[in-house]
Amino acid sequence: MTRSVLPCCLLALLPALSANAQTTTANDWQALHAGTRVAGLESRVFTAEHWWQLVLPGLTAERGFAVEQIGHSAEGRPLRHVQWGNGPTHVLLWSQMHGDESTASMSLADLLAWLGNAPDDSQVDQLRQQLTLHLVPILNPDGAARFERRNAQGIDINRDAAALATPEARALKALRDRIQPAFGFNLHDQRPGYRAGNSDLPTAIALLAPPMDASRQVNEVRGRAIGVAAHISTTLQPALGGRLARWDDSFNPRAFGDLMQQWGTSTVLLEAGGIEGDTDKQQLRQHTWVAIVAGLQAIADGHHAEADTRAYTDLPENGVVWPDLLISGATVHGQGLAPLRTDVQVNFRHALRFEQGRISDIGDLSAQAVRHRIDASGLHLHALPDAQLGPDSAARFYLSRDAAGKDVLWTLDGDLPLAQQPAGNH
Ligand SMILES: [Zn+2]
Repeated sequence: MTRSVLPCCLLALLPALSANAQTTTANDWQALHAGTRVAGLESRVFTAEHWWQLVLPGLTAERGFAVEQIGHSAEGRPLRHVQWGNGPTHVLLWSQMHGDESTASMSLADLLAWLGNAPDDSQVDQLRQQLTLHLVPILNPDGAARFERRNAQGIDINRDAAALATPEARALKALRDRIQPAFGFNLHDQRPGYRAGNSDLPTAIALLAPPMDASRQVNEVRGRAIGVAAHISTTLQPALGGRLARWDDSFNPRAFGDLMQQWGTSTVLLEAGGIEGDTDKQQLRQHTWVAIVAGLQAIADGHHAEADTRAYTDLPENGVVWPDLLISGATVHGQGLAPLRTDVQVNFRHALRFEQGRISDIGDLSAQAVRHRIDASGLHLHALPDAQLGPDSAARFYLSRDAAGKDVLWTLDGDLPLAQQPAGNH
């Protein structure tokens, strides 16, 4: 039966019917994910070597995979391309071009495990028949080794899409040019402090169908990406409603997402943000997995073309970034200076774990919204004996009841003790 022979009254019902028939819910996907999660990735800090040691043994030809090296990083680590599927639509997915953005690399490990472990699953079969997947997990293994954003040469690979000065960017571009993928997934993490729109809620996941030029026009290529992003948004809505956002769509002529779109690959940017208490982004690993498989399914069954694009366009933009911690109202004793009553703001390298803090501001921050606030009114704040108190100093100080700093009440030595963290982190 085709739509054209249906009477118009039935035709009106079709979008809803087909949505029910084709759409797998977030709950279904989450249940699938629980059974396919790769063990050994419980910390969000891991090396590329560790990731491949876990994943590579499962990527055999018998299980439908082909693995090739497509280059090496500045420090000589292998960059690998994993191919799976026999379908006509090619999809390129790459993760962790920023070395400290590891969430989607965990999700891609789980994706490969699912594809390999469940070859007879009808959804896996549909993906295999319709798509050919090309994965480049951990594009920046040198950055991952240090858990830092940039590559070993100090370059932000996502600002190197035009210059192609780094071996990592060249490898990704060469692969794109060779396989000419119709779709792309550009997988990142963003700061957990971002709020969704004007709300107080942290953005759990932000999506973007990047513009292809400064005009931000929606041509066919970008339109397809918007359809995929809208389908992902709809799928995630029940679990993450209010915590989904859209990235700012200013054109960046040096960024891969934007240029992929320009080169003809309908690309969706996904940024895993933060959920309080999800210190190693294990919940976000699952949501990201759901986003990826829902997006792939929508590409495989053509559903993206029917998606209600308002599910994407109506998302709030990423709002302001809330700093991690504010110690408010203490009398601050700087070395050799007159004490003053003021506020001290701290941001942490591992924001969700409140680890490796640095002082990010000192002054009247009473109007500042923050992720976590400690009211230190009536207390005295001193640097630890070998530490400094100033903007960009390591956050190493303590609170005392007395001005001389003898009666110590609380100490912050870089990491915030778990018992001091917000309730969600316990
Ligand atoms: Zn990034």
